[in-house]
Amino acid sequence: MSAAPKHLYLHVPFCTGRCAYCAFVSGPPSANPADYVETLLCEAAARGFPSLGPLETLYCGGGTPALLGEHGFVRLRESGLLSLADDAEWTVELHPAAVTAPLVRTLASLGVTRLSLGVQAFDDATLIRCNRRHTVRQALEAIEIARAAVPDTGIDLIAGLPGVSPDEWTRTLRRTVALGLPHVSVYALSIEPESAWGRSGMAPPDPDRLCDAVAEAADTLPAAGLRRYETSNYARPGLECRHNLNTWRGGDYLGLGRGAASRLGLLRRHGDGTEELLSPEEDALERALTRLRLAEGFDLDATLARFPILAPYRGRWASRLADFRAHGLLAADNAPTLRGYEVLDAMERELLR
Ligand code: SF4
Repeated sequence: MSAAPKHLYLHVPFCTGRCAYCAFVSGPPSANPADYVETLLCEAAARGFPSLGPLETLYCGGGTPALLGEHGFVRLRESGLLSLADDAEWTVELHPAAVTAPLVRTLASLGVTRLSLGVQAFDDATLIRCNRRHTVRQALEAIEIARAAVPDTGIDLIAGLPGVSPDEWTRTLRRTVALGLPHVSVYALSIEPESAWGRSGMAPPDPDRLCDAVAEAADTLPAAGLRRYETSNYARPGLECRHNLNTWRGGDYLGLGRGAASRLGLLRRHGDGTEELLSPEEDALERALTRLRLAEGFDLDATLARFPILAPYRGRWASRLADFRAHGLLAADNAPTLRGYEVLDAMERELLR
């Protein structure tokens, strides 16, 4: 058993409908979604964690965590399952249609420090096409309601959605900038085979147009004070998502709930519940290379000091990193450049060869 996890992800697998691009584990809520808290408690106990904490970060994702309702979140907080460190970050993902003033006030009173709203687009026709089940107006109202209770409220957008012209994407980014948010995630659309769009045979977005849309976000958002700190994430300095940073820095985390992955020591648990025990070298490689996606740069000496088992890679990695820098894919501190972000997977494969 590895050390008690300091980072917990809780997955709430309920949604009132299915977004057209969605391949996550989610389904209709049960009659009493708050009862799902008991399921989480049972799972935690069965996996050897009857209580957790003090946690440094807690992330409630989905699905639609808001479907737990105020009652469900109060039960979760009072259950004895978890305690939070004094400066803990607690994030809850919210669907815009589920945001109400009483809910977000309750979340704030329970210790929630961050909210993340799935806005995805600022165009009603696009939202309908995606089967998002909310309007632009609802999203804007939800943002105002949410940040009145929890100032650290950010949004997600999706680049490359069908029917979104370059002009529409420019307007989306301008609207986002005007909101003055502390955190914005911009995910590049991928057509997953299990999604409604995948099953219908929809073609993936044109790669050049998708790169242009992501590059425009990478240009526009930093000009508004939002620094790109990871491939898809932008934040005002100091307001990065600490939960996700821990994962990208190769840290341990426990995931509870149907669809939640975990990474604890050499154990990798997938969202479907299957588990793999990695070799110490596989474990170190995965934890070391995930850091490549961060703007804080890939420090080879620090990486090898943390993972001595990777010492044999030193010469090869030093030479490959130098090549990447020479080709303009990495900056002097080995942080990805704009072009580097576009070919991150290829760089990682090169380092693994
Ligand atoms: S709200 Fe999220 S989890 Fe639910 S269907 Fe949409 S994308 Fe999937």
